[in-house]
Amino acid sequence: MELPTKVLIGEGAISKLGEFLADSSANKRVVVSSGSNVTSMVRRAVDSALKEEPVWVRVEAADMENVNRVMQAASTSGRIVGVGGGKSVDVGQLAAFKLHLPFYSVPTSASHDGISSPFASLKGLDRPYSVMAKPPVGILADLEVIASAPRRLLASGCGDLVSKLTAVKDWQLAHKVTGEYYGNYSASLALMSAEVVLKRSKMLGTFGKESVRELVEALISTGVAAGIAGSSRPCSGSEHLFSHYLDILAPDAGLHGEKCGIGTIMMSKLHGLDWRLVRSALKNVGAPVQASQIGVEDSKVIESLVKASSIRPDRYTILSRKKLNKRSATFLAKSTGVI
Ligand SMILES: [Zn+2]
Repeated sequence: MELPTKVLIGEGAISKLGEFLADSSANKRVVVSSGSNVTSMVRRAVDSALKEEPVWVRVEAADMENVNRVMQAASTSGRIVGVGGGKSVDVGQLAAFKLHLPFYSVPTSASHDGISSPFASLKGLDRPYSVMAKPPVGILADLEVIASAPRRLLASGCGDLVSKLTAVKDWQLAHKVTGEYYGNYSASLALMSAEVVLKRSKMLGTFGKESVRELVEALISTGVAAGIAGSSRPCSGSEHLFSHYLDILAPDAGLHGEKCGIGTIMMSKLHGLDWRLVRSALKNVGAPVQASQIGVEDSKVIESLVKASSIRPDRYTILSRKKLNKRSATFLAKSTGVI
């Protein structure tokens, strides 16, 4: 198991970044991989929290070219800090993994569980899903910064959280059918995070300080669950395959967590779970429950449902068992109100 060793969550936590990174065994050089949406206020806060000015690398896209840019800036010593929403954390994480350097995650939004997971999602690889790297050594989450991110991002984070419900069901199914390893502890941990949304969606949807903290803690826990399981199984099942297929058909439509949330509604129905509860929880937090809300055409939803399992044949899920065709996929999407 590889897990983060330090987690700091709090208002104004960024001002403690210097102490957070303090580690006598490491070189002082700090390379920050940051996204284009990182505000100048956050940038100033990072600069003033560190004794020596860090090297900033602006990540334009989550691809190998940007990973190489961060690697060049970091050379073979120092630490890499990923400051941003998604891309910059993934790129920094993979660069650190390749250079065997410690990686620190400083999320500026809470739109998905990549802020703590041992995986990185990159474009241009041979597969459309995440690659195994190492979890961050430390995660520093400034609640003031995260709470000021657009609500759509926070709602998307709730979508990624709720998806653990069907991910765990798929894992249990795979264990039964194929004999694949199943870890009850990591599965329970991931389920607990899904329940934060299912049971407390009204409170969560206010996105006040308390709810943002709960959202961030739950997202970090799901990354830890993946670290304990040694795979993304507790966090990613049929609903993620659906989301990944939509990424191919409609690359610019919707956020990762939004697509996973919509996928969870439909996969819950396939599993015989209370899909209406999933739908109403997503509605309560302001996450989309219909494909049209994220600008995806009905035909793309249906095609994704039919073909999703083909992008990762080794991952047994409810889609491997039910093998949807155009007709049954249309019925599923219509009966759950997704199209
Ligand atoms: Zn996810």
